[in-house]
Amino acid sequence: MKNTADVVVIGAGVHGAATAFHLARAGAGRVVVVDKSGVASGPTARSGAMMRPIFTEAPYIQLVMEATQMMEHWDELVGGDAGFVERGFLRFTRTFEKAELGGDLKLMKELGVEFEILDADALRARVPDAEFRGDEQGLWLPRAGYADPVLTTRTLARAAVRHGVTVLEGVQVTAIDAPGSRIESVQTDQGPIHTRTVVNCAGPWSARLAAGIGVALPIETHCGGTSLFQRPEAIPAGGPILSDGVNQVYFREVGDSVLRASHFGWTHNPVDPDDYDETISARQLQTLRDDLRKRYRSMQRGVFAGGFSAIYDMTPDAHPIIGNIGGVGGFWCNCGWSGNGFASSAAVGRHLAARIAGQTSEVDLGMFAWPRPPGTKMRPDGNWVKR
Ligand SMILES: Cc1cc2nc3c(=O)[nH]c(=O)nc-3n(C[C@H](O)[C@H](O)[C@H](O)COP(=O)(O)OP(=O)(O)OC[C@H]3O[C@@H](n4cnc5c(N)ncnc54)[C@H](O)[C@@H]3O)c2cc1C
Repeated sequence: MKNTADVVVIGAGVHGAATAFHLARAGAGRVVVVDKSGVASGPTARSGAMMRPIFTEAPYIQLVMEATQMMEHWDELVGGDAGFVERGFLRFTRTFEKAELGGDLKLMKELGVEFEILDADALRARVPDAEFRGDEQGLWLPRAGYADPVLTTRTLARAAVRHGVTVLEGVQVTAIDAPGSRIESVQTDQGPIHTRTVVNCAGPWSARLAAGIGVALPIETHCGGTSLFQRPEAIPAGGPILSDGVNQVYFREVGDSVLRASHFGWTHNPVDPDDYDETISARQLQTLRDDLRKRYRSMQRGVFAGGFSAIYDMTPDAHPIIGNIGGVGGFWCNCGWSGNGFASSAAVGRHLAARIAGQTSEVDLGMFAWPRPPGTKMRPDGNWVKR
């Protein structure tokens, strides 16, 4: 095993893989990625991997737009196929208020997001299977879609390796050493790696690692369910992501014959990331089904085709924690993504890598520092929902 590195990235989820890829391209020296399990083996593997630039803060919008552009040219920029399909994203809503929409249309327009507003009649024409009340409207984002989260992460990791990065799978970081508040090494179950720089991309496990060097990250692990249904004929294959902001439920296709559906908003369900029930409960399935039936006629007969629970690394305000954290020299974080980290991952890695390599970056990641800069508001869709 390599026992020295310029940078050690802990975790080979989509953020670890993207950060390593961009570190290599930024000329950050010898980069080693360590994952206790394997590439894309954590929550990344279960991601809906939807990419849509609806946000109230500029950095998210800029990052998702940049990541989408990368997805559109993945083979050229990264190599291989990330499974990205630009099917578009349709959100149903009663108002375009920021809090209800989870997005600031004025800001999105200023930053160049393409969108169209649809009234209830236009919505009925687009989604004949759905019922809409006269006061409901839609936001149509044509340049949105979803990718395959595992292919995305694997292609990033492979590209990183082609650029000289070492990826160690099945190697667990057991401790970080930072005497005198300066990173010196990481300890693994297969020996130490001496390094001056660590990037903590360990998702739900990142708070434990940081605690070992006295850095308190406010990240809790919560669990939520996703269900699969046979695609009813009334919902044609190849359609957009349908996101019902009124009933707080969305779905997208998985292949031609299956839809994956989930609630948005967060249910308070703290779990141990190493020991939680990975199945979906009958109660979760029932609530999801009930909410889908409120909108789609065909879902009255929706055929259950499986489901699972997955974990989210939640922060108190639902924003991630990115940057050099805790006053520890060489200790960088890219974690706490609160169930929203896939969409921007390919781009975040670039801006973070530039900062680590001492270069400038055109997207300001300052709002993601911890502690937060004064004035940082909670993400409007980050509230806990009781179900
Ligand atoms: C069901 C679900 C649906 C989602 N849908 C979307 C979506 O549609 N759009 C969107 O933008 N986001 C979505 N997300 C969120 C997004 O998928 C995550 O934010 C993102 O995948 C997190 O990636 P990550 O690299 O930060 O962490 P993870 O995937 O959690 O990876 C962390 C890695 O660190 C490794 N690790 C941990 N501890 C150690 C250690 N001590 N030593 C070595 N390795 C370690 C783990 O093995 C793991 O592989 C969804 C998430 C879930 C769960």
